[in-house]
Amino acid sequence: MYCPLCKAEYKPEIKVCADCKVTLIDSLPEIPELEEINWVELGKFDGKVHAEMVEEILDNNNIAHFFKADFLTTTFGITGVGAIGGTARLYVPEDDYETARQLMGDIIE
Ligand SMILES: [Zn+2]
Repeated sequence: MYCPLCKAEYKPEIKVCADCKVTLIDSLPEIPELEEINWVELGKFDGKVHAEMVEEILDNNNIAHFFKADFLTTTFGITGVGAIGGTARLYVPEDDYETARQLMGDIIE
């Protein structure tokens, strides 16, 4: 049995990692291709309007991306002015950074 977080190996009868308190798995999963990507920060966004605009541009150009933000898990998706808070950081693969940067123009700082 293996811990998916710290990768520690345990005896078969052990079900939970003593360090991480997570349920153990039979075997460590293959590392998905996604995790081999070297993600770089493209820019910061102060609200979801900006973020959605940028996301649309990236989607249209098939550039993989993800946000790291407080408001994504709390207020993102809730309509209404005032529901916006926090700062999002946008990450794109290093290989697409230059392209993404050009597409963004002066939308981002
Ligand atoms: Zn662990």
